[in-house]
Amino acid sequence: MPGKLNFLTLIERKRDGGRLTAGELAQIVRAYAADQIPDYQMAAFLMAVYFSGLNADETRALTLAMRDSGVTLQFPKDTRPLVDKHSTGGVGDKVSLPLAPLLACLGFRVPMISGRGLGITGGTLDKLDSIPGLKTLLPTERIVEIVQTVGCVICGQTDQMVPADKKLYALRDVTGTVPSIPLIVASIMSKKLAERISALVLDVKFGRAAFMQTMTDARKLAKAMVTLGNQCGVNTRAILTDMNTPLGRAAGNWLEVKESVELLNHRTVKPNQRFNDSTVQRFNDLRTLVLTCAAHLLVQTGRARSFAAAYKQAEDCLNSAAPRKKWDEMLVAQGADLDAFNEKLAHDYTAPVVLELKAKHDGFVSRCDARVIGEVIRDLGGGRLTKETKINFDVGVDRLAKPGDKVQPGSTLCRIHAVTLADADAAAKRLETAFAISRSAPRPSRLIAEVITR
Ligand code: URA
Repeated sequence: MPGKLNFLTLIERKRDGGRLTAGELAQIVRAYAADQIPDYQMAAFLMAVYFSGLNADETRALTLAMRDSGVTLQFPKDTRPLVDKHSTGGVGDKVSLPLAPLLACLGFRVPMISGRGLGITGGTLDKLDSIPGLKTLLPTERIVEIVQTVGCVICGQTDQMVPADKKLYALRDVTGTVPSIPLIVASIMSKKLAERISALVLDVKFGRAAFMQTMTDARKLAKAMVTLGNQCGVNTRAILTDMNTPLGRAAGNWLEVKESVELLNHRTVKPNQRFNDSTVQRFNDLRTLVLTCAAHLLVQTGRARSFAAAYKQAEDCLNSAAPRKKWDEMLVAQGADLDAFNEKLAHDYTAPVVLELKAKHDGFVSRCDARVIGEVIRDLGGGRLTKETKINFDVGVDRLAKPGDKVQPGSTLCRIHAVTLADADAAAKRLETAFAISRSAPRPSRLIAEVITR
């Protein structure tokens, strides 16, 4: 362990732009996880990293030390590859929910360790918590057991997994050191490496409601994670996707579960053949993204020879009844009450109040601002301002009109699900600013802007 004086030397070296060895970084992580470094010194170190950065070797050493601060998942030998997807998060991003059972049906094992939302970014665990009886906190042995028997699990990280990240993230959160690319890379990748997967697809979002607002920053983060994942023996790819507009037609915890089940039930609108490629992506963006992630993993693991063949394989599987059956199986394995879940699904809405926001004139939706929508949902009670906030699962928006949609006076721009009429009215006023309607159809932007392979 570095003594207090030694750690001070390391802080000073990093502050002055020097390099740290893998051994030194491992010592720092071990000592901090064991409460042998005070928060004030660790905060200074994180700030030194924030300004001076870490090179690729240092980032890898930090990541591996964080992974090894706790237990990693240990799976028996099996012909089914272990894979996962990680998204940097956004508004309406429910891809993990239909993707996990789809991947299990495609012959993968999927130990999907997910997180909670903070601010305007939704969290997969919060969405799952809206399902009656379902448990997202599972012991390590049970996670492995469900993956082996069902093929997929979506749950939270146990206290034993990557404990150093939990402590470090909490400190970064209150010291202004979250937006450091090497620290983000180490935080995300240490948790993914602890799953002991062989392939990973990263959905790195850019845009108004994304963690990385510009494509340049998103690309930088994606490249660093792809490089590190591959160096650590995980076949890693990243896609850069647009988060200026919410994904899908619903945002809010339960409403997103409902939309995911609708996708598994094939209840999405078929795009018109005359649309071009980017319009198809946009029209059915949720389905496109789910299939794209699955297709990349099929290629990455050598299960398909080309992306086109892989996409078709994933599409055929999604068009079958198998992924919906697998979803139910996963829910039951995680303790859900399937009857109560299906009964809840049968309701058009579960919030006390539903209000429609209507278009005032005709034209084409040219903007549907994910940031404004995310902020409104958070303030309706569907998201967190602090980690302690108790969230309401039923609030949110659905039936979202998205860029390219033709509207007339009175057409629905979205439905607002709220606890009170006053909340719904206040949300409606703010949501009016989220939409813009133009005379002509806007040029469709690409949902998937770039693919980053090794
Ligand atoms: N998500 C994480 O898990 N860690 C970060 O540092 C940022 C986003």
